[in-house]
Amino acid sequence: MRSRFWLTAFVIGAGFLAATPRAGSQASDASTSPTVALLSELIRRDTSNPPGREGLVAELLAPRFKALGFEVDIVATPEPGKAHFIARLRGDGSKRPVLLAAHADVVGVEREKWTLDPFAGTVRDGYVFGRGALDFKGGLAVFAEAVLRLAERKVPLSRDVIFVAEADEEGGRYNTTWLAESHWPKIDAEFALNEGGWIIKGADGRVRYVSISTADKSSVPVIVTARGTSTHSSMPRPDSAIFALSRAMARLSAYETDVQLLPLTRRFFETLAKTSTPPLSTHFRNLLGVDPGLVRAADRAISADPLLHALLRNTLAPVLLNAGFRSNVIPGSAEATINLRLLPGVDPQDVVRELQRVIADPQVEVRLSNPAAGASKTPPSSEDTDLYRALEREARVAFPGAEVTPYLFQAGTDAGAWRSRGVPVYGIYPYPIDADDLTRMHGNDERVSVESLRQGTEMIYRTLVAVAAR
Ligand SMILES: [Zn+2]
Repeated sequence: MRSRFWLTAFVIGAGFLAATPRAGSQASDASTSPTVALLSELIRRDTSNPPGREGLVAELLAPRFKALGFEVDIVATPEPGKAHFIARLRGDGSKRPVLLAAHADVVGVEREKWTLDPFAGTVRDGYVFGRGALDFKGGLAVFAEAVLRLAERKVPLSRDVIFVAEADEEGGRYNTTWLAESHWPKIDAEFALNEGGWIIKGADGRVRYVSISTADKSSVPVIVTARGTSTHSSMPRPDSAIFALSRAMARLSAYETDVQLLPLTRRFFETLAKTSTPPLSTHFRNLLGVDPGLVRAADRAISADPLLHALLRNTLAPVLLNAGFRSNVIPGSAEATINLRLLPGVDPQDVVRELQRVIADPQVEVRLSNPAAGASKTPPSSEDTDLYRALEREARVAFPGAEVTPYLFQAGTDAGAWRSRGVPVYGIYPYPIDADDLTRMHGNDERVSVESLRQGTEMIYRTLVAVAAR
């Protein structure tokens, strides 16, 4: 009953909105906002990757952007149905463009574990539900509506505003690296927004902090190879490659890399110290101190959280094992692949040498899968830009009392295509979320709150006005 009544209210509200300028949306029922309506429509286009089919999103967006005067470019990839969507709103050209990037693909679902249809875009109890609500169709809807609002309100612009809905961020070959290699002039900009940091609210609904990612960790595959005598399994020798590899893996499993605080992560943990309660706040303070014993104890407590553990250090994770081919042959070699996730600026060769030292076995060799891999030369994006300053300021306006901090993203994103070419990228999931929301990301019953979408759209719109209005 309740949902039927609500649906009636929604339909009436939508009719009212369509007949009035969208500028009035802020004062109207938040559940009827254009961002919510767009997000529901985006969720209904199933872009689970593989295969992605991001062209569905391009088809949905193209008429809306064209109608408001954007130059629209749908970049087809060699894979049918897979496309990048690029829309450009022209400024007077006195400044270089600002770009907003959002991936249009989503990860798949375990449908039987959802309590509602993951591809229906259901709005219920103040939330939009569906695959991609948080990652990242919610952000795509926020970025798109903020950009469309600039055109609707005819804001005079000093620079072009470029909006990109990307393919293949969750997997596949035709991602932004491909787009940048083949169509760079279309996406070149002075700076850009993308997914990354978080707007975290506590149990009371108040936003505690806003983190804006300025760098990503890098992913480096390492091969560990043990060698022994290849022979008949009826006459085993002491130099078994598989035993040697197993001993090496056991040593790595007991090994922990050192804590390495960068200026960037130091500021993030300072923020956590301010926004958390004891005993956690004490651990964060001790972590930032100089007493090695206290730092170690703080690390042990904080690293119970796998995300914070990963922000504190280079991590290593065994991901593949390969040995043997017949049940009566002792193989001459056994191999493991370790996935290193490195802090910015770390030389993978240094880590390889460290792993070789930990394994301490001449029978076992550690090497980079790609021998040419070196330290990432991409520095964190500067906070000394108009875009970072504007976003930081508008985050404080939107969420009074919240801390705002730069952030190291624990994984990789599609921001590398720009950062590696010297274009600063600032990452944010542009809506307040709590711990419950976060566990649903890439999980079940993914959702984002209607009020959070409204706040995010307002914050991004105001940020764009600050950097691009004449
Ligand atoms: Zn994402």
